[in-house]
This record gives sequence, C-alpha cells and structure tokens, in this order.
Amino acid sequence: MTTNIIALLTGILQNPGIPQPIIDKILKKQFGKGKDAQSEDIESQQLQAKQQQNPYGQIGYCSMCDHHKKDRNTYHCIDCDICIEGFDHHCVFFSKCIGGGNIISFWTSIIMVFAIFVSFGGLVVFDAVLK
Ligand SMILES: [Zn+2]
Ligand SMILES: [Zn+2]
Repeated sequence: MTTNIIALLTGILQNPGIPQPIIDKILKKQFGKGKDAQSEDIESQQLQAKQQQNPYGQIGYCSMCDHHKKDRNTYHCIDCDICIEGFDHHCVFFSKCIGGGNIISFWTSIIMVFAIFVSFGGLVVFDAVLK
C-alpha cells in the first residue's frame, strides 16, 4: 500500500507534459554555452521564419517558450514558466503542473489517499460504536 503511494507520487513528479522541443531547448541552453554572435543571428532568423509558418496551424504560439502549441490543451503555466501539454491545473501541494503526462498518477493517488482516510475514519467510527 505504502509503496503504491510512493510509486504514484513519483509518477506525479515526472514530466507533466512539457513538450519535447522545449525540453531540448532548455538542455541546449544549459549545455550549449559559448555561442558566437553569428550563430545567434541565424537562430533569430530561423525563429522569425518559424513564427511565420506555424506547423500546427492557427492554434497558438507561446512567445515565452518560443514554441508552437501542439493543440488547444497546451497551456503556459505562469508558476512553472513553461508550456504543459494537456494542462489540467497547477498543483500547489507538489508545486508542479498536473497535465497529460501525470494526470492519471495524480487522480489515482488522490483516490487512494481518500480511500485511506475513509477506511481509517470507518475504523474510528466502528471502534467508537463498539465501546
Ligand atoms: Zn509557454
Ligand atoms: Zn505549473
């Protein structure tokens, strides 16, 4: 039971649905230092071209992530400062987004915690009735 909960909680802590291009971009930013001005210039030109031809149609472009949203369920979370695919909500308890990637783990653990409380409460009541 406890290991199940731990597994589910770690499930929540995985990628909630950050689009792969953004992850690549973050990794590149962190590890790809020492770029010269020319390559940056080319990059900004490519960016402009990308903005003009949205591969996903007119759904939307996130200027904060420099990324075209794949579908209408992709939403930019202000708290995480990143786009989340299948965004549901930003969970204050985990200080993390709940999205397409972890929503199943999230709801399963909510139900499990609820079930534990109910059974625990039931035991307390049962105990009180017996006395
Ligand atoms: Zn975004
Ligand atoms: Zn968030």
